[in-house]
Parts: sequence; structure tokens; C-alpha cells
Amino acid sequence: MPSPEADLEDLAARIRKSRHLLVFTGAGVSRESGLPTFREAQSGWWARYDPMKLASAEGFLADPALVWSWYRWRKALARAAEPNAAHHVIAWLEKRVPRFTLVTQNVDGLHARAGSRAAIELHGSLERVRCCDCGAVFPWETAASEEAVPRCPSCSGRLRPDVVWFGEALPEAALTAALAVAEACDLCLAVGTSALVYPAAWVPQMACAAGAALVEINPEPTALRSLAALSIARPAGEAFAKLKALLDDVSG
Ligand code: NAD
Ligand code: ZN
Repeated sequence: MPSPEADLEDLAARIRKSRHLLVFTGAGVSRESGLPTFREAQSGWWARYDPMKLASAEGFLADPALVWSWYRWRKALARAAEPNAAHHVIAWLEKRVPRFTLVTQNVDGLHARAGSRAAIELHGSLERVRCCDCGAVFPWETAASEEAVPRCPSCSGRLRPDVVWFGEALPEAALTAALAVAEACDLCLAVGTSALVYPAAWVPQMACAAGAALVEINPEPTALRSLAALSIARPAGEAFAKLKALLDDVSG
């Protein structure tokens, strides 16, 4: 009878052989930290308001105070959350393979809090705000005033979260770097992403097209399943905790 952990044993063997591992994460990696994913959330703001309006330049122009309330709520949720086993083991893997790159669509800061260094952030970060007028970037705390719509300390323009909204271009340097890694890696692990949001979803697709083995970790089937050499249908926290035990077993 095959082992109940044959999928994770397969992944552990692939990681031991990998020379350059790319880990690509989405909202699902933070689900076990209590943060709602984009598509699943049925309650709170996500159900009451159209995310297209809360997370778009048009929505911000129409009602900047509403958009700020929503982002302050999301920031408070992210700050109150703790990294889970998936974030921790991803940070640990960084030191266990010859080359490692983390590319994330998340803005919650949990990878950095778990110890990951130099993640490529495709959709920005709730650690920062940016001026709509002069483009200057500041730490999130700059927006922690009482004002409903905080102002830029240099030019008094409106500040906004330094995240990518619907309809906006991704930071060019981040996307270029992520696609270059996708071309160069030999193993790509797509974790907790529906892979429906473009151009971010190009990253695992490009890795696969360039010859890397694609492994996905997601309890639900996704757009990547037909491309994946291996699909691990488990929650990310559980999968990474068991994976670490398997890797520890052999490599000490
Ligand atoms: P998504 O909501 O489209 O997909 C989430 C995926 O996670 C789904 O496929 C779901 O099956 C999977 N999932 C749910 N629980 C899981 C678990 N325990 N382990 C592993 N996978 C699990 O999210 P996306 O693909 O990241 O794209 C949506 C966009 O929303 C992104 O641009 C992202 O920036 C943004 N977003 C970010 C956060 C965050 O920073 N935590 C939260 C919500 C949305
Ligand atoms: Zn400014």
C-alpha cells in the first residue's frame, strides 16, 4: 500500500535534488493564520463591498476614506495574525537549498515576519504607503494619524497603501525579476494560489514552460493542476510541517 504521505515524500525528494527552488505563494498560505483569502471570504467587508471598488484607483478617487478604512482593517488583521508553519518552513527552506527565491502575491508581511529575506513582492506590501502625487514611499506608520485620508509629509498629497490595485501595472522590477527566476529555477512550488490573477500567474506557468517541475500545494483544484508534476491536496501549514519532518529525518 502506498504511504499516506507519498505526495510529501515525493516533494521532499525533489527538494533534496533541486539546485534552484522557486516558491510562489498566494493568499492561501496565510489562511491558517486566520487571514481570509480573496475568493473564499463571505463575511465582513469582503461581502459588503465590491473588492473592485475597494482595491482600484477609481474606487479610491470616488471614496478615499472608505478605501482607507478597509485597508486599516486589513492591516490590523495582518498585524494580529501570526505566521503559520507554511511561512516558517518556507523561511527555513531558504537555507537548505543551493539557491532559493520566494515570490509572493501577498501583502500581509507574514513571510518577512517568519524570517524570509528578500521576497519578491508582486503586489506590494501593507508595510508601506505611497504618495499619489510625488510617488514618495513611507512606512505604513506614516498613515497612522487620525486623518481619514492621510497626507504626504513631503508634499501634502494623498497617501495610499503601496499595493497593486485592480487594473494597475505590477512593479516592473519585481515582475522582471520573478520571471527571470521562473526561467532559471528547476523546481517551482506554487502554494495557496488560485493562479487566476495575471500577470502574477505567469510565474508558475513560465517555470513550467522553461522546464522546471511544478508542484502545487492547495486543498482545492486550481488552474495549475494540469501543468503540475505533483499536486499536494492539503492545507499549506499541514503540508509544510510534515515536509520539514521528512527533510529533517534524512538531512538531520
Ligand atoms: P485567491 O484568493 O485567488 O486564492 C487562494 C487560494 O488559496 C485558493 O486556490 C484556495 O483553494 C487556496 N487555499 C485556501 N486555504 C488554503 C490553505 N490552508 N493552504 C493552501 N491553499 C489554500 O488568492 P491569490 O491566488 O493569492 O490571488 C488573489 C489576490 O488577492 C492576490 O493578488 C493577493 O495579492 C490578494 N490577497 C492577498 C492576501 C494576503 O496578503 N494574505 C489576502 C487576500 C487577497
Ligand atoms: Zn508627496
